[in-house]
Amino acid sequence: MPHRFLPKQKLALLTTIYWFMLSYIIAALLFWYIRLQQQNEQMANYKLLELVADDPAYLQKVERINLESQRKNIQYRGEGLTFLGIIIIGAIFVFRAVRRQFRVSQQQQNFMMAITHELKTPIAVAKLNLETLQKHRLDEQKQQKLIHMTLQETNRLNTLTNNILISSQLDGGGYKLVKEEFNLSLIIEKLLVDFQQRFPERIFQWTIAPDIDFRGDPLLVQIMISNLIENAVKYSPRNEPISLALYSDDRFIIIDVKDLGPGIPDAEKSKVFQRFYRIGNEEVRRTKGTGLGLYLCKKIAEDHHGTIRLADNLPTGSIFTLKFHHS
Ligand code: ATP
Ligand code: MG
Repeated sequence: MPHRFLPKQKLALLTTIYWFMLSYIIAALLFWYIRLQQQNEQMANYKLLELVADDPAYLQKVERINLESQRKNIQYRGEGLTFLGIIIIGAIFVFRAVRRQFRVSQQQQNFMMAITHELKTPIAVAKLNLETLQKHRLDEQKQQKLIHMTLQETNRLNTLTNNILISSQLDGGGYKLVKEEFNLSLIIEKLLVDFQQRFPERIFQWTIAPDIDFRGDPLLVQIMISNLIENAVKYSPRNEPISLALYSDDRFIIIDVKDLGPGIPDAEKSKVFQRFYRIGNEEVRRTKGTGLGLYLCKKIAEDHHGTIRLADNLPTGSIFTLKFHHS
């Protein structure tokens, strides 16, 4: 893709110009330093030549001229080094800022490409399904199947847009966290019932302690838990159950989401919480996603003064554990 090479070439050109200018500035500084030194020496020599040898204060005057020349020498060196220091610090600062900016813009470009695909596919599928329903007289069963498929796609769109909008708002500080008291047990139960309807072929098991109160943003909390359940659905085999537990002790409210999928290798465990990070194996690449889900989960947990941990399930799979202080 030509447009992916263009910024690299541009960066190479800019880097070359940058290093050239920097070398030029340092060379000029060195040149001026040498010139000033020479001038200083010349001045001292002239002054020495002007002295009259039979002057009674001759030796004293020679010493004074030498001392002055030495003092100037030290001054030039000090000023030169200060300038060099300032130039180098400034150069490092500019270099880093430009590199960071470039990395961000490249990341955004990759993200836009991933997002465009992820957004367009469900829209295209939903449109096609609806057109089929409109044009053809289908029997009840086929109609139901198409409607179910369309709903799946709109659900995916819903999660995706929520993730994108909320994460960009949370990052930019544009999202005002709502703090309200709500019944976490009820909200999670409702989520699970929704998931069971969306994925009737999957087995969801849950143990939910009743009436656990939570103080926070109910929409964000739902997005966080949905993302964990969605991952469990997406990355574990169809016939394996997904389980969720909500319980509390005297200090914490704890939510566990477990699956019996392939699990996440130790080397990837902390990386999966990074923005846009997806494990690079074939299995994951076959599924759809942007790598925003877990990043958002962590951000929301932290915004609620909580933590998210990832451990291995037995015999296989992952356990994601959210832990919050009581409100
Ligand atoms: P998105 O959630 O934005 O649609 P995603 O699911 O790829 O995309 P995350 O939810 O952030 O992104 O997950 C990051 C990566 O961690 C996934 O791509 C997958 O490789 C891995 N992962 C997440 N949850 C699980 C899980 N339950 N089992 C195995 N791997 C997982
Ligand atoms: Mg996900």
